[in-house]
Amino acid sequence: MDEPIIDLHSDDYFMREALRQAARAYEAGEAPVGAVIVRAGRIIARAFNQVEQLKDATAHAEMLALTQAEETAGDWRLTDCTLYVTKEPCPMCAGAMVHTRLARVVFGASDPKGGAAGGAMNLLQFPTLNHRCEITGGIREADCRGLLQNFFARQRLSEKSEKKNGDDDPDSSGRNL
Ligand code: ZN
Repeated sequence: MDEPIIDLHSDDYFMREALRQAARAYEAGEAPVGAVIVRAGRIIARAFNQVEQLKDATAHAEMLALTQAEETAGDWRLTDCTLYVTKEPCPMCAGAMVHTRLARVVFGASDPKGGAAGGAMNLLQFPTLNHRCEITGGIREADCRGLLQNFFARQRLSEKSEKKNGDDDPDSSGRNL
């Protein structure tokens, strides 16, 4: 057994699992965000963003993972669970995390425009709400952000080439990328 030593309980390990989910979203043409929920060192839910596939604006990775975890737990209270997500949660998902009383939220890439775990606002630790989640940010941030940037860069490119369809100019295609 010469396998590298992997700490199966580390934030890094579980964020890799969330990144695998994000990669599945990427392959499906969805904004690449993935999430896993961990309880007692075991993953009890895995999900990726499926807004386009399900035609449902609420089908964020975290929402789907929370529903799965509630099913597995047989309880809407996830007080002993940690959620790992590749991008800082939005206000909707942060709200759901407070409602399910998650112990801890770990995210990769921060979102200063829309993040609700301290990026743009902090709903996970809002003083007047009845539950606050512990927050850890910036885990495997470069990988998480890289995947998102790559996805949106590709999307802009394909939008450009769609616009170009019709004037078929081989000289300008593929340049300045
Ligand atoms: Zn969300």
